[in-house]
Amino acid sequence: MDDPLAASSLYAHVRALAGEIGPRPTGHPPEAAARTYIRRVLGEIGLDDVEEMPLRAWDTWGYTIAAPALLAVVGNGLGRLGRWGRLLGGLAALTGAYHLWQAAQGGRQLLAPFFPKRPTANLIARLPARRERRHTVVLVGHTDTNKHRFTFAPGVKKMLVASVTAAEATLLLNGLAQIARSLGAGRRAEAVRKGTLAALGAMLLYLLNDERGGYIAGAADNASAVACLLGLAAHLRRDPLAHTEVWLAFTAAEEVGCLGMHALLDAYGERLRDGWFLDFEMVSTRRIAYVTRHSSLSYLSGYAPDPESLAWAEETSRRHPELGVTGREVVIVEEVGSLRGRGFRGLCLVGVGEDGWLANWHRHADDLGHLEPEGLERAARFALAMLHTLDEK
Ligand SMILES: [Zn+2]
Repeated sequence: MDDPLAASSLYAHVRALAGEIGPRPTGHPPEAAARTYIRRVLGEIGLDDVEEMPLRAWDTWGYTIAAPALLAVVGNGLGRLGRWGRLLGGLAALTGAYHLWQAAQGGRQLLAPFFPKRPTANLIARLPARRERRHTVVLVGHTDTNKHRFTFAPGVKKMLVASVTAAEATLLLNGLAQIARSLGAGRRAEAVRKGTLAALGAMLLYLLNDERGGYIAGAADNASAVACLLGLAAHLRRDPLAHTEVWLAFTAAEEVGCLGMHALLDAYGERLRDGWFLDFEMVSTRRIAYVTRHSSLSYLSGYAPDPESLAWAEETSRRHPELGVTGREVVIVEEVGSLRGRGFRGLCLVGVGEDGWLANWHRHADDLGHLEPEGLERAARFALAMLHTLDEK
């Protein structure tokens, strides 16, 4: 029988998702086609009881990041209505700042009700323990893909976290300046208001340009993760764990704000309160690591895995030096941010490129040609080793 965790088996899933189906924008038909593929593969290993969890989501990160700037610009216009208009405008900019700060760390977005939405869905499958259940582990891999963005170009991406932090600070200053004006402050507050308003206008133009690149195939981000989940499902069907129930969460709408993960926690948060979450992100380079510190998109909102999950990964790494998986800090924001923000456990496995960054992150180069299949196998085997480490406890 074929080994479902062999690099070639895992690569076949990536080829089906990123090669045959192609770019998978949230809420668009190819993302649904990816779900059909996942269901078919799970069906072939006898896992037919797959739950489809519908949700509604917007289809680009652009709304997430442009909305607060747009709200603030409109808010500044209210200044013409006098003192109360200025106060209202100031509160609008502060609301935008809060929204962006939350979004930058995978949190819930305050302005979400205003974004145009499409139907999408999570797929959830469960592999019960052979004997009495002591642990529940949720393996997470998102199905959607992002766009090709100038923001993520080599060189430019080094400014990513600084730029989002600057945008947060600009919104905050603009809001405070408007409120100061409403309370009677004079020229200096007005100068700050005008300066930050100009910066927000420039930011909107820049973001408009960032939307024009088209959606990426996402061989790494995140067909690689879906492939690992499918491989692990096949392996665990043949050889189930004794005391660990494993959930496979194929999440929707990660790239627009981790909406699939939030929907999963809304539905099953109670049941998964003591669960362990292992998120796979771009596990398709030779160097596989578990993330010890996530930058998020802002210097004001970095996050880390919970200490227990980190200890779990460290123990597994020590026991399996042959896999060469170690811990490192990475510039990334993903579903562990949503989990940690809501008080759940969470750890992320990633593949990093030569320069220590996620390789070809949100670029058209994230395609089959740039994939290193041995990374897929290493990530899947490390995750399996982690499952066994926990299962013994
Ligand atoms: Zn991703």
